[in-house]
Amino acid sequence: MSVENQNVLVTGGASGIGYAIARKFADQGAKVHVCDINHVLIEELNAADEGIQGSVADAGNESDVDTLFELVLDRFNGRLDVLVNNAGIAGPNGPLETLNLDAWEETLRVNVISAFLCIRRAVPVMKKQASGAIVNLSSTAGLYGFPARTPYATAKWGIIGLTKSLAMEVGGYGIRVNAICPGSVSGPRMERVIKSDAETRGVDENVVYEQYLRQVSMRSFVDADDIAEMTLFICSSNDVKISGQAIAVDGHTESLSQSA
Ligand code: NAD
Repeated sequence: MSVENQNVLVTGGASGIGYAIARKFADQGAKVHVCDINHVLIEELNAADEGIQGSVADAGNESDVDTLFELVLDRFNGRLDVLVNNAGIAGPNGPLETLNLDAWEETLRVNVISAFLCIRRAVPVMKKQASGAIVNLSSTAGLYGFPARTPYATAKWGIIGLTKSLAMEVGGYGIRVNAICPGSVSGPRMERVIKSDAETRGVDENVVYEQYLRQVSMRSFVDADDIAEMTLFICSSNDVKISGQAIAVDGHTESLSQSA
């Protein structure tokens, strides 16, 4: 199994899990392009010349995605083997009746509409070449109810519905579509999520952290590299007959209830 010389696009790939995925594919000899909304991170990535090329794009904006695909397909001579829809935001915390429409819509736009926009551009290319792999980042929040995080849970359940339906639409063309559901991934994003959760509930951050750990059978967070390894595995060969799946990489989440 090899991804050598495969053409790979990762959205939201200038930091966090997206960067770990991009790095993993580039280390295995793939040609990798990332987009990110953060132009500072993209400039740093391009300046570092790490074998990953980046450009600025909001993955949830239609014209940005059109420009991104023109650039990427030009660079990749019209071929795209792997699309990783990773761009996402945590969305607001709090009881549903306290949340505003703008924050709800933004959570759905960045987490779900972004995947639609990129898939809409990628599928015709993959159909023509009769192969391809699409990985959509969902979450354990797409497998369980998640009180006080309704927009995020709705978006991540939506990603699984998108994944399973698309896998049925395109499976006959040799295109595989899967969702990966990370548990809590160590790093700055989880630190932000824990801080925001603690503030909303008026408790100490350590209390929230311990609760998150107790929700997982293995009593551990996962690393971005664990998600990158799984992405690499499911994309590494057309002989991997895995499609339409929501694959948890999470140390086995038992619940997302705050009282857990
Ligand atoms: P992160 O916030 O650390 O990084 C996200 C990256 O995406 C950043 O570089 C950011 O600039 C970029 N981005 C944000 N909005 C964008 C947009 N509209 N267009 C393009 N780029 C954009 O997040 P992460 O922890 O690396 O999460 C990556 C994915 O994994 C997300 O979809 C997230 O929901 C999912 N996830 C994360 C965790 C976790 O614990 N970190 C758990 C489950 C699922």
